[in-house]
Amino acid sequence: MDRSRSWWGWGTTDAALSDDECRGLAGMLPGLAAEPVPVPRIADLGLRAPRIEAPSSLADRCSTDPADRAGHTYGKAYRDVIRSLRGDLPHPPDLVARPRDEQDVVDLLDWASSTRTAVVPYGGGSSVVGGVEYRGDEHPAVMSLDLGLMNEVLEVDEVSQAARIQAGALGPALEAQLREHNLTLRHYPQSFEFSTLGGWLATRSGGHFATVETHIDDLTESIRAVTPSGVYASWRLPGSGAGPSPDRLLLGSEGTLGVITEAWMRVRPRPSQRASASVVFGDLFSALDALRELTQSGLRPANCRVLDEGEAQLAGAGNGEQSVLVLGFESSGVPVDHDLADALELAASHGGVASAPASRGGRDASADAWRSAFLRMPYVRDGLARVSAVSDTFETAMTWERVPDLIADVRAVMPAAITDACGTPGRLNCRVTHAYPDGCAPYFSVIAAARPGEELETWDALKVVASEILQRHDATITHHHAVGRDHRPWYDDQRPDPFAAVLGAAKRELDPAGVLNPGVLIG
Ligand SMILES: Cc1cc2nc3c(=O)[nH]c(=O)nc-3n(C[C@H](O)[C@H](O)[C@H](O)COP(=O)(O)OP(=O)(O)OC[C@H]3O[C@@H](n4cnc5c(N)ncnc54)[C@H](O)[C@@H]3O)c2cc1C
Repeated sequence: MDRSRSWWGWGTTDAALSDDECRGLAGMLPGLAAEPVPVPRIADLGLRAPRIEAPSSLADRCSTDPADRAGHTYGKAYRDVIRSLRGDLPHPPDLVARPRDEQDVVDLLDWASSTRTAVVPYGGGSSVVGGVEYRGDEHPAVMSLDLGLMNEVLEVDEVSQAARIQAGALGPALEAQLREHNLTLRHYPQSFEFSTLGGWLATRSGGHFATVETHIDDLTESIRAVTPSGVYASWRLPGSGAGPSPDRLLLGSEGTLGVITEAWMRVRPRPSQRASASVVFGDLFSALDALRELTQSGLRPANCRVLDEGEAQLAGAGNGEQSVLVLGFESSGVPVDHDLADALELAASHGGVASAPASRGGRDASADAWRSAFLRMPYVRDGLARVSAVSDTFETAMTWERVPDLIADVRAVMPAAITDACGTPGRLNCRVTHAYPDGCAPYFSVIAAARPGEELETWDALKVVASEILQRHDATITHHHAVGRDHRPWYDDQRPDPFAAVLGAAKRELDPAGVLNPGVLIG
């Protein structure tokens, strides 16, 4: 079986939807194309010839193979899939470098700075915001710096429960190595299988923990990075009040200030106690009220997601008229059944009707249905893209008191915008992926039938409408998908001007030749 990574879409080629499965999706919405567009062959892409050669000392770390270059041209956003399907790859990297150790990273950055070759750090390439693609022509050449060979857990400190992990480790490889010590990082973004520790740190990813330690930031003890100006390493500390945190500058730096090579991460014993249930509500807002009270009550479910009526139905967890709260508690020692019972009582006071709770490793059926649909979703998205669907998401976070207005506004404006752009109505769903005592992270998905050939333009127009709604409500342009190139206009507006100036100064200091991920975050 072919387990190779797809160059144009999500995951591995063997898991992609077949042509027949794509035809099956065409019945999902009126207006979808009956026949899937074919996936272009790499040989037919006509990639621009490489414009630079690596120096002989680094040549064995660098590839100019067309499949490598095509696969490193874009991330894995919907618009990346569409452009790949169109064979539209005008700015492929000239070479793909795979350092084996930190010295290789130093040498590659030195060479890139001296030749003004743009460097795009690349982890798993799962960016959905244009984070790993080069746009423009200001640099004479572009190198994708793929950390994939630096993928080991180098050290485990079982006393302090921390592990030193190389940045290029993909989620499964990292967890497999920690499992040998009965430890786990338990950071599971939806993209877990095909994203790396370095990418998570560089984008401040949001993981499976839906309350408290939601972002990778919370699991980070110290970070080591190579910048064109030298190595940048912070001390291992459980906490520190010594001035602004050096880690904070690298967290979310999106490859613009340095290449993260490794980090000490907080790990924990694998959970042995689990309890989960799903709770059905008559409407989304009652479910959200329950969720707010839950997070404010001091209960800390590891998993708690609210799915609106459409989202629950799509995931096979609801009948299309009910909103669902998926709840899961876990611990490596104390039983969590009481926590779940308290949470269910609280949910019941908001009209929630619970499924029979499953405990001690037992799994709730709705939660299971949701989880498998969740992991299959990116493959289905690619299949939908092949039958001319617009299928993408936008996400945000804001304080509780403003959440109902935002959701109401999105529900009022987006359906009309979709019909306007596509000529037929589409589907707009909402889920809440993370929750805090003072707010939550609403996440919206759009599925609609674009006019064949207009998929990209249609999504770009809808993305502007969506982002303007977020901006109107002072909701962040992203809770966990990062800024990249696609969120720049709204991010620039969101951040304070003096902070933008400080970031620019840091960039000039750490990357004087301006080669690191140009166009992302800064400048
Ligand atoms: C289907 C799907 C589901 C997703 N689900 C989630 C989710 O649940 N939560 C979430 O937070 N995100 C999610 N994402 C977005 C994406 O997976 C995250 O942004 C992830 O953190 C990127 O990791 P990566 O290793 O793939 O990084 P890449 O995509 O390779 O890179 C992302 C950015 O980080 C920089 N970078 C990568 N490695 C390094 C390094 N070592 N040093 C410096 N800079 C580096 C890159 O230059 C780029 O700017 C999803 C994406 C997809 C396609």
